[in-house]
Amino acid sequence: MEKIDVVIVGGGLSGLACAYRLADNDLQVIVLERGDFPGSKNVTGGRLYLEPIKPLIGDMLEGAPLERRVVRERWSLLGDNNSLNIDFTGERLRKTGHSYTVLRATLDRWLSERLMEKGVFVIPTKRVDDLIWEDKTVAGIVSGEEEIPAHVVVAADGVLSFMAEKAGLKPKMKPKNYAVGIKEIIELSEEKINDRFNVEKDEGCAHLFLGDVTKGMFGGGFLYTNKDTISLGIVIGIKALMERAPTIEAHTLLDDFKARYEIKRLIEGGNTIEYSAHVIPEGGYNTISKLYGDGILVTGDAAGFALNMGVTVRGMEFAIASGIIAAETILMARQKGDYSAQTLSSYEARLRETFVLKDMMNCKDMPEFLDNDAFFTYYPKYFPHFVEKVMWFGDQPKEKIGQTLWRELKSSGMMSFKRLKELYSIKNI
Ligand SMILES: Cc1cc2nc3c(=O)[nH]c(=O)nc-3n(C[C@H](O)[C@H](O)[C@H](O)COP(=O)(O)OP(=O)(O)OC[C@H]3O[C@@H](n4cnc5c(N)ncnc54)[C@H](O)[C@@H]3O)c2cc1C
Repeated sequence: MEKIDVVIVGGGLSGLACAYRLADNDLQVIVLERGDFPGSKNVTGGRLYLEPIKPLIGDMLEGAPLERRVVRERWSLLGDNNSLNIDFTGERLRKTGHSYTVLRATLDRWLSERLMEKGVFVIPTKRVDDLIWEDKTVAGIVSGEEEIPAHVVVAADGVLSFMAEKAGLKPKMKPKNYAVGIKEIIELSEEKINDRFNVEKDEGCAHLFLGDVTKGMFGGGFLYTNKDTISLGIVIGIKALMERAPTIEAHTLLDDFKARYEIKRLIEGGNTIEYSAHVIPEGGYNTISKLYGDGILVTGDAAGFALNMGVTVRGMEFAIASGIIAAETILMARQKGDYSAQTLSSYEARLRETFVLKDMMNCKDMPEFLDNDAFFTYYPKYFPHFVEKVMWFGDQPKEKIGQTLWRELKSSGMMSFKRLKELYSIKNI
């Protein structure tokens, strides 16, 4: 059977971006997506950073249905019954639009429609089951009864990538290398969102939470404002969830989160219109898969390109960038008429020149740094506690603020060698 040029497995942002860069190059490209439509099975928090990908995307996102430009960054430490919040905004953030909230069911679908206008076949409800091999070279895919031979396969099939696994490119993963995210999309009027989050029309807020939201387990909560919906969810480390005794159902954590004073008032009157759950790669640089083989490239989450930076989560711009660079590698390989691993290895070399592998490498110690219960138990308990002590005015004369603070710092163990060592280790992340 005659080979088509490129089969892309997975119609998420990574697969679609790859197809977009390949379009208009007189190539036969098909994208196979197991969901009902691209976006139907894709989950993100989510906020997309545009600045890192601007040099790569050309006109790909022109007119894209982005939700709101993030102009307000918030972080909260949630104690059992109190919280400490940081709210940051600034002229630079308000004027540049460096990141936007997005809804994947809208964005991915829109991008796939643009692709179809360009003549790329995006085929939904098509699950790929296996790879075709010619000697030790990937030579296409198998979907049900059908075989589709191809010169090159792009594994853009997300975090659990069976394609990368079947190609022998995925390293052995452990539960601590993954987290699970649970998310609701809550409908709320545009005016209410603007009022409650103190933003203007089209301006948005990104808010991350640590502490009681995960009952002290690795992970956190997130809230992103969209045009007329709110994305609210939690992320919990799979290892922490497995080791929890007594066990706890992840969805009850989300219910408790929604019931908290800090959240309840923000979502009051809203209707949940979507509920989803998804796995997230948490291993960082040290668990990235092998990125190429004979006849195959691995992109996006499938490759492990996602970064939990503590103060923000990134994955989508890595997915888009790696998809585009994979496409450019394929165009170069086609000119040579050679899809061997040796030729495709320039994919990794290109990624090393861009933010994708540079940022992943810079943050390689982050997973280890975050693998510390204190960030999810101790600090979220004590920081709000200090503020409460200082700001409480009772029926007794008020002692000096410095005295209160010093006593509380000492009794909390904040001045111990262990805590100072933690503070010192911040320089590594
Ligand atoms: C709760 C949560 C919050 C997040 N927050 C953020 C955020 O705020 N910002 C950010 O940048 N990133 C965030 N991320 C990460 C980000 O969403 C991912 O990095 C990104 O979606 C990866 O895109 P992708 O195209 O590589 O994979 P995916 O979007 O997962 O796409 C893979 C596609 O492959 C399809 N597929 C899988 N197997 C097959 C098969 N065998 N055959 C055919 N199709 C198949 C799937 O249906 C899917 O459509 C978050 C992730 C989660 C889960």
